[in-house]
Amino acid sequence: MDTIPILRDTKSSLVNSGGDPIVTDVVVVGLGPAGIIAAAVLADGGLSVTAIQADARDHLRAPLVSPPPTLRSTAVEEAIAQATAQAGLDGVGGSKRLAAPQAYRLDAWSLRTRSATLSRYGALPSDADLTDWPIELEELARWYDVVEHATAVGPRPATVWTERMNRAAATLGWSPFPAPAAAQTDASFLLDGRGVHIVRASVTEILRGSTGEVTGVVLVDADGSQRSLNCGVVVVAASVIPTVRLLLLSGITGADVVGRWFMSHNAFVVHGDFDGQDLGRRHAGPATAVAVDAFEGDRFDHTGVGFLGGSILQAAMTGTWPPERLADAAVGLGVEATRGADALDWVRAHQASIGTVWAQPDQLPRRQNAIDLDPTHRDVTGRPVARVTFSLAPDDVRRWEFLAARMTEWLDAAGARCTWMPPLAPQPLGTHLYGGVRMGIDPRTSAVDSYGRFHDVPGLVVVGSSTFPTTGGRGPLETIEALTWRNADHLAAELR
Ligand SMILES: Cc1cc2nc3c(=O)[nH]c(=O)nc-3n(C[C@H](O)[C@H](O)[C@H](O)COP(=O)(O)OP(=O)(O)OC[C@H]3O[C@@H](n4cnc5c(N)ncnc54)[C@H](O)[C@@H]3O)c2cc1C
Repeated sequence: MDTIPILRDTKSSLVNSGGDPIVTDVVVVGLGPAGIIAAAVLADGGLSVTAIQADARDHLRAPLVSPPPTLRSTAVEEAIAQATAQAGLDGVGGSKRLAAPQAYRLDAWSLRTRSATLSRYGALPSDADLTDWPIELEELARWYDVVEHATAVGPRPATVWTERMNRAAATLGWSPFPAPAAAQTDASFLLDGRGVHIVRASVTEILRGSTGEVTGVVLVDADGSQRSLNCGVVVVAASVIPTVRLLLLSGITGADVVGRWFMSHNAFVVHGDFDGQDLGRRHAGPATAVAVDAFEGDRFDHTGVGFLGGSILQAAMTGTWPPERLADAAVGLGVEATRGADALDWVRAHQASIGTVWAQPDQLPRRQNAIDLDPTHRDVTGRPVARVTFSLAPDDVRRWEFLAARMTEWLDAAGARCTWMPPLAPQPLGTHLYGGVRMGIDPRTSAVDSYGRFHDVPGLVVVGSSTFPTTGGRGPLETIEALTWRNADHLAAELR
């Protein structure tokens, strides 16, 4: 990997250790999977690329780019400061380094939720702002192929648990299949030999010229020194909350759409106890799973159920729970199931025979679920932190109830002695976040076009799930990677 030690320059450019200014065509902000692919593809296309990645040092999160946001349920409440930031990791490789990583393609319905719903049911939910993606699945498919080849996507070997759940799902007529996972959990190998200049710093502002075009970025080094770097194109790949915050701190709002339609997978689980049978949990992690898509998208008739979409259901290996996670598994466990024992003690003693099924349900876009800048809370440098306004809607609860019943059915069919589950919890800082920089055709209702190019800021491109108009009912990673690859390829051709 090509890195250049950077020295302080008194003017508005960066110099490398040899004293020469770094001349760069493109700045990429963030080197998670999206930024890595953008930087690699642009450099491959003959452009000079400088990628700027915040350094988290000994922590998961870097203080300038991921200060904990404040949270509130509705716009009339005062937001409360949080102890932690959005789940994830600041550093080269980004949050994918924490991921399984399961590697799913989205289905056609997820990209066409609005038109498919109108066509099948003749009406749309009145309290959601559904819009179709401005790209066809057929076009994305080509880039999914590229990503799957590059990151070696395929199923992991079956285990005692996944085989058991495979048989149970087949008995129910649900056509189970092994979950796809990427062998590569860190995409940074894609940068090897491509000459991308990597700067360990935090971008704090995107600079613009008199006609609104991008002219560069301001960045803060680990020692606190601030400098600027001139360039004509900035690709922001900072993940959802940091991306929205950076745009807003730079005065970039689109038509008051930046930060709107924020969404999350409010993931949930149902546990089952298999009465002393060893399910082999310690032999694999969450990338090893058997999946069912019968209750996802529009694969079943939604007439009268009170929600759209659903989720892929997965019986995943979870590895052995670390001590601090045991309490989570005990939530919802009744005294009958533990035969009178203390719930935590019982889980500790029986975890080898506990099997878990989990869901990542769709959440529909709502304008009021949003990210903006907090008017009072500041980060260590005095800049506003993000404020997240987020609540579950009645359809989120109905979708959860419906899916949890199917998950319980699945565990029962597999021979569970008893099942239990924690209540549904809103997860605005969870592992799968979406929206805030919605892509679309209309600049009045979207921030970027299908290539991630800002409608009203020449030279500004955003990649990542902040641009997704809908969530889909499965993980975002492979779609982030495929869309970024496509967009960077297009951008490289444009800039050459
Ligand atoms: C525990 C966990 C498990 C997951 N498992 C899965 C899974 O199995 N399957 C799946 O599909 N998805 C999974 N995800 C989600 C997936 O990892 C993320 O969607 C994906 O990593 C997002 O990629 P990204 O590049 O957009 O953002 P990130 O991976 O978050 O990377 C963004 C990078 O930008 C940097 N950055 C941000 N702001 C700045 C700034 N101003 N200046 C400089 N640098 C900046 C950050 O430090 C970070 O390194 C998981 C996530 C977590 C947290």
